Amino acid sequence: MNTAESETKDAPHDFIRDIVRDDLAAGRTRSVVTRFPPEPNGYLHIGHAKSICLNFGVAAETGGRCHLRFDDTNPAKEEEEYITAIKEDVRWLGFDWGEHLYFASDYFEQLYAWAEHLIETGFAYVDDQSADEIRANRGTLTEPGRESPFRGRGEQENLDLFRQMRAGAFPDGSRVLRAKIDMSAGNINLRDPVLYRVLRAPHPRTGDGWCIYPTYDFAHGQSDAIEGITHSLCTLEFEDHRPLYEWLLDHLPVPSRPRQIEFARLNLTHTVLSKRRLIQLVTEGHVGGWDDPRLPTLSGMRRRGFPPEAIRDFAQRIGIAKADSTVEMAYLEHCVREHLNRTAERRMAVLDPIKVVIENYPEGESEMLTAVNNPQDEAAGTRQVPFGRELYIERDDFMEDPPKKFFRLAPGREVRLRYAYFVTCEDMVKDGDGRVVELKCRYDPATRGGNAPDGRKVKATLHWVSAADAVDAEVRLYDHLFTHPDPGAEGDWLADLNPGSLAAIEGCKLEPALGGIAPGAVVQFERQGYFAADKESATSRPIFNRTLGLRDSWAKVQAKQT
Ligand code: ATP
Ligand code: MG
Repeated sequence: MNTAESETKDAPHDFIRDIVRDDLAAGRTRSVVTRFPPEPNGYLHIGHAKSICLNFGVAAETGGRCHLRFDDTNPAKEEEEYITAIKEDVRWLGFDWGEHLYFASDYFEQLYAWAEHLIETGFAYVDDQSADEIRANRGTLTEPGRESPFRGRGEQENLDLFRQMRAGAFPDGSRVLRAKIDMSAGNINLRDPVLYRVLRAPHPRTGDGWCIYPTYDFAHGQSDAIEGITHSLCTLEFEDHRPLYEWLLDHLPVPSRPRQIEFARLNLTHTVLSKRRLIQLVTEGHVGGWDDPRLPTLSGMRRRGFPPEAIRDFAQRIGIAKADSTVEMAYLEHCVREHLNRTAERRMAVLDPIKVVIENYPEGESEMLTAVNNPQDEAAGTRQVPFGRELYIERDDFMEDPPKKFFRLAPGREVRLRYAYFVTCEDMVKDGDGRVVELKCRYDPATRGGNAPDGRKVKATLHWVSAADAVDAEVRLYDHLFTHPDPGAEGDWLADLNPGSLAAIEGCKLEPALGGIAPGAVVQFERQGYFAADKESATSRPIFNRTLGLRDSWAKVQAKQT
């Protein structure tokens, strides 16, 4: 591949980057400033990752900067815990806002002054209608709204009332400040939108300094303007808010003129990305917390073992478009497998063990064998794995009465133990119920390392763990959180929860190198999949989360299509 080709492949390209490039070329923008503006009312999820990669990506590619701004204008739902978690997740994903950490609440005083400015210029009024009345009078897409009986209030009266609102003279919900625009506007967002409401709720940052709070619409564009944001990138649901965003910039003495551009949000199959639903899953105990490895939250994915590089790669590969679409979960998983296949070290672990006794192996002896850490990465080197007379193999790698296509261990059959020897099954021990509990085998000492000097072949290679050295572990297997690709499409979304999304198995046997593994590390258990050491892992009993199995259903879909 020549450089030009590799550049077009590697550099992200989309309509937003085109606009930004044109603005730079035409001199409309001198230096790009973007922002990622989470509301601290939940944990970040993979949809936010798309927005983070876009905002920080565009800034990095153009030598600009990206701010992290908490859109903390609704104290009723916001918490400090979320602020801490969001910062950690953005950093984990690989992005750095430097000194540009901001809070919309830092601008409350300025926003208040601008609200008074709108009143003084005749573009805002205090409305005494209740929230229900305001809603009822807003009209519909086909019917214009009705003007409030308080719309004609004089400027001084409005100013007095607004100052009393701030001073705490009125109960919650009794009065609002509205922009005076046009109750018959085709765009409902322009029908005198609410700018401030009375709300007595302690704010995580301003405490009880305020009992009126600006709405999202009043805070967002002005915060952008204060920070000198050049390109305010947001999701499509804000497209209809853009005329209001621009109206406010037009009617206020703001220091800069940001440009809002909308893109399609990420939708993913077999999960939910609505914060409301995620909060419900957590608070109702359908999952174990915000970092439950089944959730599409960044903290859940981190605990599950998804590498940040794979998530960034995914975000880049799905791209940025103006039309809504849904991405297959299998595609995200494909990106994760691709990364882990290159980076994860291989280890041996037996999840459902059956004992093997090598009868011709000298009793009381053992030896160390050399195993490759990562066939995809020579630099990962090798390690020593203990081998002895008693081993564990996977229960389903043996069949007493194998069907035709079963090539693994069976009575009288020879197989290879990876990195070790050829072994042949000679006999079985059964318990009172006729269940096989132990296999008696013999090994061929001439096949050390896994190859026969006489060139004879075996059809299967099994993983194994030395019984004397095995570390006991709990392993948690995960499946999609929802059975339906589009939860709720056919009724109650909670009814689509997958009852088999978590299976915890005890008594798994790990090779000793896995005993002291650091929480968060991801390895491949040979023949099984990728597994991440859980944060609850204790050295006495490690816990592993299955990141993903080895089978790539996306690759299969692709293969069929070509
Ligand atoms: P809510 O619906 O409660 O407002 P939200 O998911 O929009 O939740 P925010 O904290 O407001 O949460 O989101 C921060 C930023 O992330 C916004 O700019 C939003 O547009 C973007 N974002 C949120 N969800 C997605 C998604 N699924 N795909 C892409 N961007 C998203
Ligand atoms: Mg939002």
